[in-house]
Amino acid sequence: MTDKTPQIITVAAEVQRCIRHARANGRHIGLVPTMGALHEGHLSLVREAQRNCDFIAVTIFVNPTQFAPHEDFGKYPRPIENDLKLLGELGVDLVFMPHREELYPAHFSTFVLPPAVANRLEGESRPDHFQGVTTIVLKLFNLIPADAAFFGQKDYQQCQVIRQMAEDLNIPIEIRICPIVREPDGLAMSSRNRYLSQKERAQAVSLSQALEQAVRLVQSGTTETAIITESMRNILHNAGIEEIDYATVADAQTLDVLDRVDRPAVALVAARVGTTHLIDNMLLPTEST
Ligand code: AMP
Repeated sequence: MTDKTPQIITVAAEVQRCIRHARANGRHIGLVPTMGALHEGHLSLVREAQRNCDFIAVTIFVNPTQFAPHEDFGKYPRPIENDLKLLGELGVDLVFMPHREELYPAHFSTFVLPPAVANRLEGESRPDHFQGVTTIVLKLFNLIPADAAFFGQKDYQQCQVIRQMAEDLNIPIEIRICPIVREPDGLAMSSRNRYLSQKERAQAVSLSQALEQAVRLVQSGTTETAIITESMRNILHNAGIEEIDYATVADAQTLDVLDRVDRPAVALVAARVGTTHLIDNMLLPTEST
């Protein structure tokens, strides 16, 4: 444990100055964007960044443009003291935590149109979500032009959206995708898990159980995705989850829905548990694995 106090910055021009200075000193800069309410999943990204870079910038910003009016922007957890303590213990160099007006002043009106992969899955039920994500991520990339930026596979579609944006817009930042960190029973860690009641927490584990079943089915030779998705839905239903947004098998890159697992593929689920929107995914084994 390092326990060094990170530099805390709230002003955009100041963070740009600080990054310029770090770069002039030959530092290799790693960026970890978050919305705070940090857990082991976030911390694993920081550790991976530290293995690859020697100046680590973490951003904490609950980005209003990726929330629809009916979503949980207002009640999203903001335990900032604890977040700063955790980042201090890890020894990150810089925490950028701007106020809303710093990134979205009154005259703000430019948005980044996300790539096609944003239209499916989450994009179907949350039409403006990924536009909010691409806009904030590009803003953060401009403020913190890192050598590498670290994202979690937990938000699989978001990773594909950001990768494609980086490729399409020639963004000179390496996009690194890190594995999902799970609770001991398999539930993917999420800042939203703290909304769950005891009963909902017990139901929520069925998301990872459904995905594990998909992996098992493919391992045992099932390639027809209709069989796999029905099995995933049954597991969710049996756990008492009624609002399933999707339980599907898709091409691992384009997220096109597949009839057969005949190429690199990913199983993805999204469901409402109580009032909480949870997502999870697992890559499926290919014939050669
Ligand atoms: P968020 O604060 O939810 O926007 O997440 C910030 C970053 O942490 C994103 O790149 C997420 O994909 C990543 N992340 C969230 N949960 C996990 C997890 N359980 N394991 C790994 N990465 C995660």
